[in-house]
Amino acid sequence: MTEKYVYNFNEGKKEMKDLLGGKGANLAEMTKILLPVPPGFTLTTESCNRFFSEDQTIWAGLDKEIKDHLKDLEQMTEKKFSDLKNPLLLSVRSGAAQSMPGMMDTILNLGLNDRSVIGLANTTSNERFAYDSYRRFIQMFSDVVLEIPKVQFESILEKAKKEKGVKLDKELDGDDLKKIVKKYKEVYLQETGEDFPQEPMVQLILAIKAVFASWDNPRAVFYRDMHAISKLNGTAVNVQSMVFGNKGESSGTGVAFTRNPGNGDKKLFGEFLLNAQGEDVVAGVRTPNEIAELKTLMPEVYQQLETAAENLENHYKDMQDIEFTIENDELFLLQTRNGKRTAHAAIAIAVDLHQEGKITKEEAIVRIKPQQFEQLLHPNFDAKAIDKAKALAKGLAASPGAASGRICFTAEAVEAAFEKGIKTILVRQETSPEDISGMVKSEGILTARGGMTSHAAVVARGMGKCCVAGCSEVRINEDEKTVQYKGGVLNEGAIISLDGTTGIVYLGDIEKTNPTLGGKFTELMDWIDEIKTMSVRANADTPEDAKQALEFSAEGIGLIRTEHMFFKENRISSVRRMILAGTIEERAKALNELLPMQKNDFYQIYHVMGGLPVTIRLLDPPLHEFMPVKEEEIRHLAETMSLSQEELNGRIDELHEVNPMLGHRGVRLGITYPEISRMQVRAIMEAALEYQTDKKIEIQPEIMIPLISDVKELVYIKAEIEDEIKKIFTEKGQTLKYHIGTMIEVPRAALTADKIAEEADFFSFGTNDLTQMGFGFSRDDSGRFISEYMDKNILEKGPFDTIDQEGIGQLVKIAIEKGRQTKPNLKIGICGEHGGDPASIEFFQRLGLNYVSCSPFRVPIARLAAAQAAIKYR
Ligand code: ADP
Ligand code: MG
Ligand code: MG
Repeated sequence: MTEKYVYNFNEGKKEMKDLLGGKGANLAEMTKILLPVPPGFTLTTESCNRFFSEDQTIWAGLDKEIKDHLKDLEQMTEKKFSDLKNPLLLSVRSGAAQSMPGMMDTILNLGLNDRSVIGLANTTSNERFAYDSYRRFIQMFSDVVLEIPKVQFESILEKAKKEKGVKLDKELDGDDLKKIVKKYKEVYLQETGEDFPQEPMVQLILAIKAVFASWDNPRAVFYRDMHAISKLNGTAVNVQSMVFGNKGESSGTGVAFTRNPGNGDKKLFGEFLLNAQGEDVVAGVRTPNEIAELKTLMPEVYQQLETAAENLENHYKDMQDIEFTIENDELFLLQTRNGKRTAHAAIAIAVDLHQEGKITKEEAIVRIKPQQFEQLLHPNFDAKAIDKAKALAKGLAASPGAASGRICFTAEAVEAAFEKGIKTILVRQETSPEDISGMVKSEGILTARGGMTSHAAVVARGMGKCCVAGCSEVRINEDEKTVQYKGGVLNEGAIISLDGTTGIVYLGDIEKTNPTLGGKFTELMDWIDEIKTMSVRANADTPEDAKQALEFSAEGIGLIRTEHMFFKENRISSVRRMILAGTIEERAKALNELLPMQKNDFYQIYHVMGGLPVTIRLLDPPLHEFMPVKEEEIRHLAETMSLSQEELNGRIDELHEVNPMLGHRGVRLGITYPEISRMQVRAIMEAALEYQTDKKIEIQPEIMIPLISDVKELVYIKAEIEDEIKKIFTEKGQTLKYHIGTMIEVPRAALTADKIAEEADFFSFGTNDLTQMGFGFSRDDSGRFISEYMDKNILEKGPFDTIDQEGIGQLVKIAIEKGRQTKPNLKIGICGEHGGDPASIEFFQRLGLNYVSCSPFRVPIARLAAAQAAIKYR
C-alpha cells in the first residue's frame, strides 16, 4: 500500500485536524460546503514527522505526490506554475493541529521570478501589482526560509518612501517597486552568497522544507512547552493558489469575526485594507478600516461576506474568526476557526446560539470555561494597561481580582488611610486574625509566606478580595517597613498593584475594568441549575458572607467556621480569654460574653438564608492562630485578665504546640472543654428557636463536629451536646429538628466511616485537612516545595488546589462507600477549598456527593462545573 501524505482541499474535512492541521482541515471543510476558497492541497502532519526521520529531506514519494497535486492545481486554476506570462502563484502556509500563533510564517506569491514578473505585469496591465507581489515574496521567502532579518528589507522600503516623500506603501508605483526588488535581491545575494532562486519548483521545495523545519525552531518548542502541548505530530503545510488583494482599490484583505468577540453582539466585527496583501492588516503597515466601511465601499462584497459568515456559523455552530481577501470585487475565504472571545462574549454568544436554535442548552453550558467566570466576577486590569505595567514579583494567585493601592504594613495603617479615603494594599509576612479589619478595608492583600490555604488566602477568598500569597520573591520587613524585590526597595506608601488571578505584583497604579453581569448571565445560570444534580452551597462565616452567597444563588451554607466569627476586633479578646482561662469560672465568664454575639450572628445568618440549610461547625481553631503575638496585645490581654505579663506569657507557653495543625483543635478541644461546645450549641439552638418563633420558617440546624478520627469522640461530644439541647428545649418549652454530623478530614475517620456513620446524620469532607494529613504536607509550609515538585513532574497539580484522585480521592471514595453501607441515604458533601475547583467537582460528581460548598465568590463557578459534570456523567 502506498502511503498518502498529500490531500487536496476537496479530500479533507474539519474532523481531520490531527492529520491536516487546523488550518488545512478548515480549508477543506469550507471547500466541501462550497464557500469560495482558492484551491490547494495539504501536506499532512505525518509527512512532517517523516521529514524529520528522513534527515530533513523530501523523499521521492513525497516529491512525486507534491508534483501530482501541483498538476491538478494547474488544471483547476487553468494556470501553469512556471508560466512566463500568467504564472500560477502559490501561498505556502503552516498549520499544526493546535493553533500556535505567530510561530511559523506564511510565504505568499511563490513562483515569481525575474521573467514571470514581467509577464504578470503585462497580462494584468498592472506593473505596480506585479512588482509589489515580487518584493513581498522575496522578503517573506528570505525571512522564513533563510531567516534573513526583515529589517534589512523594511529599511529599504522606508528609505524609498522617504525619498519619494510619501507615507504609504501603496503610494509607490511600479518603477519604485522595480528598484526596490533590485535592492532586495542584492540583500539576498549579500546574505547568502547566492542569487535569489529563479526556479519555481526549487522555491516551493525550499519553502516546504523550511515550514517543516520551523516545527522544531526554538520559538515553537518554547511555545509548546509553555502551553504543555505535547503528543503532536508536527505541522501540516498548506500549498494554495494565490488570490490578490493588492490589485488596486477594488481589491483588499481583512479579518472578521462573525460576532463581536468583546461583547458577543451579533454583527460582523473586523478590519480590512484595500490594495493590500496578507499580513498588512495585522502588521499595522497602515491603519485598517473598520469592517462596517466595507458596506459603503463595496456593498455587494459586504453582503457576500455576511452570507458567508452566516453559513459558517450555521455549519460550525460557533462564532468564527475569518480571514478573507477580495480580488477585483470577488470575495475569497482563506481561513476560519472558532474565534477567541472574552468571558462576557462567551456567555452572550452561547446563550444567543441556543436561542437561535443552533445549539442545545447542554452545548451552551459545556462551551463556557469555568475559569472565564473568574474574569466576570472580579475587576480586571485593563488589557492594554497591564501590558505596559512593570512586574516586580510573582506569588500564588490566592484570590482573584485586581487591586491597586499604597503599601501598608499594619491593619492600623490601613484603617487610618481608609478614614482618609486612601486606597491601600495590606502587605504582611503572613496574616492572622488581628489583621481582619485591615484586610476588610484594604483593596488587596500581599503576603510573603503561606500557601493557597493560608489564613490570608482563605479569608481573602471568602471576602472576594484580591490576594497574592506566598510571594517569596519579595522580602517583607515589617519592622523597617520595607519591601525588597529584585529591582529595588519600596517603602510604606508606595503604590503597587496586585493581580490575584495570575499572582503577579506590579509597580504603580493600573487601570481596571469592573464586572457587569447582564441578563444573559442570569439566563445561562438558570439553565445550569436545571441541569446540575449536586447542590452548591457556600462557606460563609458572617451574615455578610451569607448575603453574598445568596446573591450568587448558593443553595445553603455548607460551612460556618465559628472561630472566624471571632475574628472581629471586639471579640478576639474574649476568645483569647476563653482559650487562656486558668479556671472553669474564668472560662465560663469569657463564654458568657461570647454567647450573645454568636447567637445574634446565627440568627442573622438564618434570617439571610430564610430556611435554606445551614451547617455550623463547632469551634476548630488551630490555637496558634489565636494567640496574641505583639507586646502591646499581650499587655492589654494581661490587664483584662488581671494577670501579670509573666503569668500570661506562662500560659501562652503552656499552650504552645510544636505541631499546631496536628494539635489541640477541633473535637479535641470540645472533649477537654465541653463547656465550649455547650455554649456554641446553645447559641445555635436558641437562635433557631427564636427565628422560628419570629418568622414561622422551619429551621433544622446542622451541627458539624470537626476533626473526628474515632467514632468514640463523636459519641462523647454528642452526649454533651444533646444533654445541653435537652436542657434548652425544657427551658424554652419548645423543640425543633436538628442534625448532628461530622467532618471527614482525618484519614482514620475515612477508613472507619462505617462506624462513624452509625452516629452521624451527615458527612462533610474537609479535604484541606484530609490532604494535609493524607500526604503529610503541612498546609502552611508546603507551598515552598510543592512548586518544585510540580516543576520536576513529581506532582502534576497542587494537591490543595485540585484533589489528588489517586490517593486522597480514594480516602473520600472509601468513606462514601463505608458510610452508605451503614446509612444508604447518608447526606454527603464537601466543604474544603476543593469544593470550588472545577476538576475536583467533576470527581465529586462521579463519586455521588450530594453537595459541594465553596467560598461565595466561587459559587457561580461551582454551579457551572457541577452542571458540566452532570452532563458528562449522565
Ligand atoms: P497565520 O497562521 O499567521 O494567520 P496564514 O497562513 O493564515 O498565516 O496567512 C496569513 C495571511 O496571508 C492570510 O490571512 C491571508 O491574508 C494571506 N494569504 C494566505 N494564503 C493566501 C492565498 N492563497 N491568497 C491570498 N492571500 C493569502
Ligand atoms: Mg491566518
Ligand atoms: Mg479542617
